[in-house]
Amino acid sequence: MKSLVILDKIGEDNNKMVKIILFGPQGSGKGTQAELIEKEFGIPSVSTGNIFRDNMERGTELGKTAKDYIVKGHLVPDSIILRIIENRLKEKDTKNGFLLDGFPRNKVQAEGLAKITDVDAVIEIDVSDKESIKRISGRRTCKCGAVYHVFYNPPRILEICDKCGSKLFQREDDKEDAIRKRLEIYHSETKPVISFYGEKSIKINGEQSIEKVFENILSELKKRNPTK
Ligand code: AMP
Repeated sequence: MKSLVILDKIGEDNNKMVKIILFGPQGSGKGTQAELIEKEFGIPSVSTGNIFRDNMERGTELGKTAKDYIVKGHLVPDSIILRIIENRLKEKDTKNGFLLDGFPRNKVQAEGLAKITDVDAVIEIDVSDKESIKRISGRRTCKCGAVYHVFYNPPRILEICDKCGSKLFQREDDKEDAIRKRLEIYHSETKPVISFYGEKSIKINGEQSIEKVFENILSELKKRNPTK
C-alpha cells in the first residue's frame, strides 16, 4: 500500500508536510486507524486522550486536573488543550507533519489550531451511535493494560485477563451513561467543527473491517494529495 504521491513528495523535499486531522466518535476505530496512518506516512499521531491517560498514570498535575473531567465524560478546558497542542507541535518529530486524533473537539479549539498551523486533510470516520455504544460498552480493561471486548475479543475465561489472570473491569468513561454523554458532546460540539474545513474533509464509512476503512482513507487521500 506504499508509493503514495504524498510519500514521494516528502522524500523529494523536506519542506513538504502532511498535516491531517482524524475525527470520529468514540468506538469508531479512530485510534487503530491513527496507528496505521502514522506508520504509512512516518508522521506522529498526536492524541490528546493518550496524553491525558499517560499523565493520569504518572500522577502529574496535568493528569490530576484532567481526571475530574474525563471520568465524567466532560471535555477538559480549551485553554489547557491548546497549550498542550501548541507545545507538542513544536517538537522535532512533527517536521514531516502530524496526525491529530481527538483534537480539535469544538469551535474554540479549531480556531486556536488555525492560529498555530494549517491542515491538509480532515478525515471523519462515520459510525452510528448504536454501533459506538455496542463497541465501547462491551470493552473490558485489565490493570496490566490488556483490552478485551465481550463480543469481539472475549478473554478465554469470563472477566479474567488471559495475560495476567487479574479480574477485568470496565473503565468509568466506558460505562453507558458516560458514552452517551460523550456522544452527545461529539454531535453537538465536535461534528459541526468538520464543516469548518470545507472541501478538505473526507467522510469514511467506519462500519467496515479495519483493512477496508484504512484502504478507503488512503485512496481518498491519494485523490486529494494533501501536500504543499
Ligand atoms: P479520547 O480518548 O480522545 O476519547 O479522550 C478521552 C477524554 O480526554 C475525553 O473524553 C475528554 O474528557 C478528554 N479530552 C481528550 N481530548 C480532548 C480535547 N481535545 N478537548 C477536551 N477534552 C479532551
